[in-house]
Amino acid sequence: MTEHAQEKVWRLVDLLRWSVEYLQEKGIEDSRTAVEWMLTHVLKMSRVDLYLNFDRPMSREELNRYKPLLLQCAAHQPVQQVVGQADFYGFQLTVSPDVLIPRPETERLVEYIISVARKRTDPFSILDIGSGTGAIAIALAKHLPLARIHALEVSPQAVDILKKNCRFHNLMNRIGIIQEDIFYWEAPEPYDIIVSNPPYIAGHEMEQLPKNVGYYEPPLALTDLQDGLAFYRHFARRFQEWLVPGGMAVLEFGGPSQREAVQEIFHAYRDLEIHRDYQKDDRFISFFRP
Ligand code: GLN
Repeated sequence: MTEHAQEKVWRLVDLLRWSVEYLQEKGIEDSRTAVEWMLTHVLKMSRVDLYLNFDRPMSREELNRYKPLLLQCAAHQPVQQVVGQADFYGFQLTVSPDVLIPRPETERLVEYIISVARKRTDPFSILDIGSGTGAIAIALAKHLPLARIHALEVSPQAVDILKKNCRFHNLMNRIGIIQEDIFYWEAPEPYDIIVSNPPYIAGHEMEQLPKNVGYYEPPLALTDLQDGLAFYRHFARRFQEWLVPGGMAVLEFGGPSQREAVQEIFHAYRDLEIHRDYQKDDRFISFFRP
């Protein structure tokens, strides 16, 4: 290699364009967004600044920090894990391979709970089962000042991330973190609202997941290793202990293919409603304890 080749200067714009194409060739969806995330992370710039600094040369040190991220992304690792951050409901969360990356579908569920619960005028309680990053609990805490929230999470590694996120958003005094397995847990009190995005993928479906999910996200957050309905059945057995009379439950499920089974499990509840996500797929169910 000549001296000149070693010192090739990458301008930001060239690196961005080259990386987008490289990731596209590797079959990465939405590769431009992924590259923008990685570059904003490495350069500690906002996305707007990236575009205002298009001609800026990349230093060798910056390139050295960027390269491993690009390779992880090319190997289908979700970009949120690569940079350790995700966006949800207009705020940022720390993520790791130990937690499910919050999905836009789940924002709809949060939006629905806020629309119903903001009408309350007295303090009330919310339980978030399988809290993971804390995405749901934190969004609700931010938008529902009268809510006292418990976030239940079984994985100790996920609890570390959950604590970090609650601390970052200054919500340690609003969100009580409980490290327990929901299948063995005794509720200390019934709640006014229960929300969950449980693991709903059937064990036998795990192999069909796209690489970015199946290889990289924690199985504990994705599957019950049964038929994907174990959580809902458990909930239906325990609702009297968990929900106050008239209390509301809002539970995400695995889309149109699970709709009928989930409806059947909760058929005895009041005001059962199925809600769709932004892709118009059935995505979550809400109902009230009679
Ligand atoms: N929505 C996720 C997916 O499709 C699954 C999340 C879950 O099981 N709760 O990958």
